[in-house]
Amino acid sequence: MPTPQETTVPPTPFRPLTEATVLSVVLPMHNESANIAALFQRLQPVMDRLGVPYEVVCVDDGSRDDTWLRLLVVHAANPRIRLLRFSRNFGKEMAMTAGLRHSTGRAVVLMDSDLQHPPELIETFYAQWQAGAQVVYGVRRDRDTDPPLRRILTRSFYRVLDRMSEVPLPRDAGDFRLMDRAVVDALNRMGERTRFMKGLYGWVGFRQVAVPFDTAARHAGSTSFSTWKLFRFAMDGIVSFSTLPLRVWSWLGLGVAAIAVLYGALVLLKTLIFGIDVPGYASLMVALLFLGGVQLICLGVLGDYLGRVFTEVKGRPLYLIADALGFPAAGSSTGE
Ligand code: UDP
Ligand code: MG
Repeated sequence: MPTPQETTVPPTPFRPLTEATVLSVVLPMHNESANIAALFQRLQPVMDRLGVPYEVVCVDDGSRDDTWLRLLVVHAANPRIRLLRFSRNFGKEMAMTAGLRHSTGRAVVLMDSDLQHPPELIETFYAQWQAGAQVVYGVRRDRDTDPPLRRILTRSFYRVLDRMSEVPLPRDAGDFRLMDRAVVDALNRMGERTRFMKGLYGWVGFRQVAVPFDTAARHAGSTSFSTWKLFRFAMDGIVSFSTLPLRVWSWLGLGVAAIAVLYGALVLLKTLIFGIDVPGYASLMVALLFLGGVQLICLGVLGDYLGRVFTEVKGRPLYLIADALGFPAAGSSTGE
């Protein structure tokens, strides 16, 4: 019987017909219609300057605007721009996963499509890769473009997650990065359905180099990540990369039990010395409510993990591809 890991190795679906692709650029896109022209206007000169065989894999993640139509136009002008379209919105992590699985380059760059990640930095990434780095990741010098509250919350979240997680997670590192084929192949072997890419990057390891950069403001449109979506994303990160929330309750339980024993001894002594005494309503209520609350939190945490186990065992595809354009051979259209 194949090990679970073997069954999740995806077939490399597409191979270029002509020369081997050196550099792939993967672009997840969700309602980015207004950014496409400007993006390629800046990306194209960078690719021309590098002067190596490249491909750009655009993943239309269920956009509701005319992102796909505009992509068709750029694809018609440059067949190196390859297109995938999801059957619905599966989320940025899935769009990146699909892009990585369909890319064929010796090195793969991941970046946002809203020009928050300057395409010119790809040249620096590329130079670092040629110098021997296997992962070159952009580190945000500032988060000025984010609203203050989001900035603080994001910072503290990554700090906490780094502490909790079993693998080190570079702080302030985002999805803007270049990865060697070896790293991409390693990521492609990860079959998990809850895909927290920032954790997966840390998990795979390899020789990593950081390159600081300033995030620009979004070129056009608005962010797809609401506070609630970011919160769910943060929970995904914690549950996927730490079992601490599951384990911490036994320590708390142990602490509470120890206090209860001491308190019990105290009450017993008091009763033996001073006789039976009825008051104690307040302490009873406090203990009852406190423990009730702790138990509910504990159940919620269990539910969070169980829900994700359920998602995993269902074994559904990670995403569904409705259209693929510019890929030489037909291949798997699901994230199996
Ligand atoms: N994105 C995506 N699917 C989604 C949401 C976002 O592919 O469901 C893409 C989006 O088109 C952009 C990148 O992910 O290229 C980052 O998204 P956004 O700019 O909305 O997030 P932020 O920069 O605010 O973190
Ligand atoms: Mg953005």
